[in-house]
Amino acid sequence: HAKQSGRGKVMVYTREMEEAAKRVTRIEQALRRAVAAGEVEPFFQPIVDLSTRQVVGFEALARWNDRDLGMVPPDVFIPIAEERGIIGQLSQLLLRQATEAACNWPDELFLSFNLSPSQLVDQNTARHILDILQRTGFDARRLEIEITETGLMTDPDSAEKIVGELRAVGIRVALDDFGTGQSSLGRLREFHFDKLKIDRAFVSSILEDKPSEHIIRAILAMCEGLGMDVVAEGIEEEEQAARLLQFGCAGGQGYMFGKPVNAAATMRYLRDHYRADLPADGASSSA
Ligand code: C2E
Ligand code: MG
Ligand code: MG
Ligand code: MG
Repeated sequence: HAKQSGRGKVMVYTREMEEAAKRVTRIEQALRRAVAAGEVEPFFQPIVDLSTRQVVGFEALARWNDRDLGMVPPDVFIPIAEERGIIGQLSQLLLRQATEAACNWPDELFLSFNLSPSQLVDQNTARHILDILQRTGFDARRLEIEITETGLMTDPDSAEKIVGELRAVGIRVALDDFGTGQSSLGRLREFHFDKLKIDRAFVSSILEDKPSEHIIRAILAMCEGLGMDVVAEGIEEEEQAARLLQFGCAGGQGYMFGKPVNAAATMRYLRDHYRADLPADGASSSA
C-alpha cells in the first residue's frame, strides 16, 4: 500500500518535471529563433548621482517580446540561455545594440552591462567584448561590466583572468546584487571591483527594519575603505533615496528615477532630464 502511494507521488512529480522540461525546450527554441532574427533588445535604466539626482549612466537590461510567447522576463530566459548554450550569442547581440545606442549619449555617461556566470568560464568572452567595442567605436572606459558573486564562484581563476583582460583596456567591473549570493568578503580582497551594487532586498527594507539599515551602513563603510563606488538598487521611494544619501551612498537606481525603456525612449529621457551644465556637487536643486 505504502509502495503504491509512493509510486503515485513519483508519477505526479515526473509528469510535472516533464511539463517543465517541455516548457524550457519551447522557450529555448523560440529564443534561438529570436536571437538569430535579432529580436531580443536592450532596454536602459538610469543610474543617478543621489546628491544631484543627475543621471550618470544606464544599465542595459534584456527584453524579449516573442511573437508567440509574448513578453518573457530575463529572469526566465537568461538562465535558459545559459543552460542551453545560447548566452554567448545572445549577449553579443545585446552588447552590440547597447553600445550602438550608447554612442548617441553624452560622452560623460557610462553603459553598464550584465555578464552571466557561464560567460566568466568562457575564455572567449573578453575577446568578444573587445571586438564589439572596436566595431561600434564605443569607448572601453565608458563601459562597465556587472558580475555576480555566483559568477565568480564557478571558476574563480577563469573569472579573474577575464576580469583582468577587461580592466586592462579600461572597462570597469561592478559586483552586482551584493549581499544576496554566496557572499565572501575574501573575494573583495582578491578581485578589485570598481563598484559594488547593493541588492534591492536591503534597499526595500531600509525604512522598516534596523538590520537592513545596519547592513547598508556597513557595506557603505567598507566600500569607502576599499575605494569602491556604490550604487543602491531598487529605490522606489523618496524616503529611501534620502536615507541612502544621508548614509553616504553616492549612486542610486530604481523605478523612482526611471524604469528600463528602449533606446529611443532613452534619448527622450536624456532630452528631458540630462543637463550637461549641472554641477556635480549637488548645488543645484532637482529640475
Ligand atoms: P539585475 O542586473 O540585478 O537588474 C536589476 C533588476 O531590477 C532589473 O530586472 C530591473 O528592471 C529591476 N529593477 C530596477 N529598479 C527596480 C525597482 O525600483 N523596483 C523593482 N521591483 N525592480 C527594479 P530585470 O530587467 O527583470 O532583470 C532581471 C535580471 O536579469 C537582472 O538583474 C540580471 O541579472 C538579468 N539580466 C537582465 N538583462 C541581462 C543581460 O543582458 N545579460 C545577463 N547576463 N543578464 C541579464
Ligand atoms: Mg545588473
Ligand atoms: Mg542587480
Ligand atoms: Mg538581480
